[in-house]
Amino acid sequence: MDDCVFCKIIEGSIPCDKVFENDRVLAFRDIHPQAPVHILIVPKPHVANLMEGVAHGSGLLTNMMEAAARIAAQEGLDQAGFRLLTNCGESAGQSVLHLHFHLLGGRALSTRMA
Ligand code: AMP
Repeated sequence: MDDCVFCKIIEGSIPCDKVFENDRVLAFRDIHPQAPVHILIVPKPHVANLMEGVAHGSGLLTNMMEAAARIAAQEGLDQAGFRLLTNCGESAGQSVLHLHFHLLGGRALSTRMA
C-alpha cells in the first residue's frame, strides 16, 4: 500500500534493523523502543489490523506467532519471559495501520496493562 510505512520497510525503500525474515513475515526493532527488547513482527501482505488478519486467513496469524516464538528464543527471552501484543484500532492507540505484534522483554514489564 502506497502510504504505509511498514509496506515501505518490507519493500526496502525505508531501512530497518531486521531481526528475522521469511517469505510471509518480517521482524525489525522498534524505532522508539519501550523495553530493552522491542521488536515488531509484521506480515508481508498489507492487512490493517488483527481483524483483517483473521479475515485474510491462510495461516498468516500462525506464521506471525511462530515467528514471534522463534525471535523470543533468538533474543534469549524464552526462559525469562516476554510480552506479545497488538494494538487494534483507534481506542487501542494503533498508530501504524498495518498489522503488527509488539514483542517486548529484557526487563521486568509493568503488570498494570495486561
Ligand atoms: P502501534 O502504536 O501499535 O501502531 O505501534 C507502531 C509502532 O511502530 C510504534 O511503536 C513506533 O515506534 C513504530 N514505528 C513507526 N515507524 C517505525 C519505523 N520506521 N521503524 C521502526 N519502528 C517504527
